[in-house]
Amino acid sequence: MSEIGQNLRVVEHATCTFCGCVCDDMDLTVDLDAKRITKAKNACTLGRAWFAEHTIEDKPPARIDGKPATTAEAIEAAAQILAGARLPIIYGLSDTTCEAQRQAVAIADLMHGNIDTTTSVCHGPSGIAFQGVGESTATLGEIKNRADLVIYWGGNPAESHPRHFTRYAVTPKGMYIPNGRKDRYVVLADVRRTPSAPVADLFLLVKPGRDFELLWALRALVKGRKIDPSIEESTGIPLATLETLVERMKSCRYGVLFFGMGLTMTRGRHFNSGAILALATDLNEYTHFVAKPVRGHGNVTGADNVVSWQTGYPFGVNFSRGYPRFNPGEFTTVDLLSRGEADAALIIASDPGSNFPKRAIEHLKRIPVIVLDAKDTDTTELARVAFRTATYGINTTGTVYRMDDVPITLRPAFDSPFPGDEEVLTALKDRLRVLLNEKRGGALRKAA
Ligand code: SF4
Repeated sequence: MSEIGQNLRVVEHATCTFCGCVCDDMDLTVDLDAKRITKAKNACTLGRAWFAEHTIEDKPPARIDGKPATTAEAIEAAAQILAGARLPIIYGLSDTTCEAQRQAVAIADLMHGNIDTTTSVCHGPSGIAFQGVGESTATLGEIKNRADLVIYWGGNPAESHPRHFTRYAVTPKGMYIPNGRKDRYVVLADVRRTPSAPVADLFLLVKPGRDFELLWALRALVKGRKIDPSIEESTGIPLATLETLVERMKSCRYGVLFFGMGLTMTRGRHFNSGAILALATDLNEYTHFVAKPVRGHGNVTGADNVVSWQTGYPFGVNFSRGYPRFNPGEFTTVDLLSRGEADAALIIASDPGSNFPKRAIEHLKRIPVIVLDAKDTDTTELARVAFRTATYGINTTGTVYRMDDVPITLRPAFDSPFPGDEEVLTALKDRLRVLLNEKRGGALRKAA
């Protein structure tokens, strides 16, 4: 960090937490008077917008029933709601630090509630598939240095993760990829031509809903089985194209399959994720091959890691029996809300009020909702208690996980008058413990 003028500071090697690429090579120029970032060197268009939009607004630190409140008053109100609930739920967590996520798991455990993350509506099926099939994995650094065959399946990184191509997997030069793009063969499989398609040497236009069949056909070809030419009719891809691709897959030095929500959130879901993971495993009989999900939110991978360390499961975890149970479809937030089972909700750094199904949002409107967010959203609008918190990575330090499970320490750019998520959640946990102890006759053990 260096001061370059009376009111300007440059924060070097800062991290962008807008998407799962978590680029940690940002040089941020900060106007300390205006408390805003005026330049974000190395950021893509999305990253620049993320940094530019985060200013300190002249708003109260909390609201209770729409009226301004102090953080302490809001903590008391939130603790009272959660202590009195029968099935309180926690949701969100993919845009906050691992330290805050850890506190959220402790709260769910303490109140015998339910905890779920945005993974349940993006790569949850991959989390299920990992348990059944396993994962042949690598870091993005290893992929940059070694991968000479790069396959993207069901994603549009040019628009969702703009630096995935340039920083990690397509154009950068690597230790064993000295000529960058020229040393890589790039394949893209999707149901439509997106702005990512021009980057590919081979584009596979897959019939919608036929990813599983296509992946299974590739597995069969890798294993030397015969495939009927009618595969083209069912998947949209000619058999000859698949055979050539399989030869390339088996003969490359190092291959990678990146897969996105086009695979996990369409027909087949965890079967699709399982098929692509199994394909990578099959290919390891011939060469080195890995498969990685391309993750969306800045710390959704951290959420998976933290919830897994602490409960044994990655998302959709229920503590109502006093120990963790995992059952997607039963303990995932959309389902708990749509069935009208949750009677209080703690939403952290997420906006289900704008993107959940109508039935789930209708139930959110009926129950007391507590929200922690750095900005106003549809969910803060319907909240009984709303905390305004500092933005992770811009105002607070902490740990986030890149999409390849590499932890990165955040370097904040400037202070915020608002508390961080971890601070609010720690105070909420402490107050909740006292209330629940009283309610349960002092029998509560001290949670982590
Ligand atoms: S690719 Fe993602 S993490 Fe990297 S600068 Fe762009 S938005 Fe930020």
